[in-house]
Amino acid sequence: MAHAILIVDDDIAIKESVEEFLTLMTYEVKSAENAFQAIEILKTFQPDIVLTDIMMQGMDGLELTRLIRKQYDIDVMVMTGYSADYSYEEAINAGASDFIFKPFRFEELDLRIKRMLKEAAFKKERNRLLEDMKQLAITDGLTGLFNSRQFFHQIKQEIKRFQRYSRDLSLLLLDIDFFKKYNDTWGHMEGDKVLMSMGRIISSCLRSMDSAYRYGGEEFAVLLPETELKQACLVGNRIRENVQNAVFTPENGVQVSVTISIGAAQIVRGEDVTSFIKRTDKALYLSKENGRNQLTVAC
Ligand code: GH3
Ligand code: MG
Ligand code: MG
Repeated sequence: MAHAILIVDDDIAIKESVEEFLTLMTYEVKSAENAFQAIEILKTFQPDIVLTDIMMQGMDGLELTRLIRKQYDIDVMVMTGYSADYSYEEAINAGASDFIFKPFRFEELDLRIKRMLKEAAFKKERNRLLEDMKQLAITDGLTGLFNSRQFFHQIKQEIKRFQRYSRDLSLLLLDIDFFKKYNDTWGHMEGDKVLMSMGRIISSCLRSMDSAYRYGGEEFAVLLPETELKQACLVGNRIRENVQNAVFTPENGVQVSVTISIGAAQIVRGEDVTSFIKRTDKALYLSKENGRNQLTVAC
């Protein structure tokens, strides 16, 4: 895909000759005669680079550069004559990526543009990798849910929000019943498939503001902001029923299902993370004690 460039220069002869050259170099080119026209064009046309003159009537190139850098992720190269009252430092401080003196040879302009595009591509790739790494650091590889590190981070954030704005906050802790036996019978890899399905089932039962975590080996947590206990129980029981209805085939011709036990709690005033999780865990323990495949509300 052709890279796009917007030329801004009130010297029509320069504007047109640069436009002609860059078009010849197969760039997609648009041009403006002043900063205001450029701002209008930018509303509908987002180039890779803005190539602007500095000395212009009304708004100068430095002000335009500052404005572009504030509003868009677009690189700016400024052009100026040797005699102009503007310095390289001023242009760079305004946010320009490069600076070229007029009159310039087109070959030099072309090389500078190519270098800017290359750097922009590197930056984009680096940011993408950084985003991927950030995502990896909070994701559980097996289930695709958030991991326990993110659980502790997020629950603390939600508790702060509860303390500040008194927003409801509920928590579900879920644990697969007799999972050791499943692994022992069908093998660890088949067990992993159940865990992966758990991830999908839990996710499918949540609303956009809820979040699900693989909290331990076969233990999961669901954080439900702005949610009262009653509603949280409905969500929990929906997950429980969907898990119970899922069919696994660990061997040809064999169909089995698994169940989960759940503890549910709503945070109360003055409660900290440890107490909130402990109370929910106790409810989960009671679900196990009372026969599993059930949800228990925390006291
Ligand atoms: P309960 O109903 O009391 O929860 O019984 P349980 O067997 O599920 O509980 P227990 O804590 O004794 O065993 C948990 C099992 O979960 C042990 C382990 O084999 C299994 N497990 C934990 N992490 C993983 C994992 O990543 N993959 C697989 N396949 N199994 C796991
Ligand atoms: Mg367990
Ligand atoms: Mg278990």
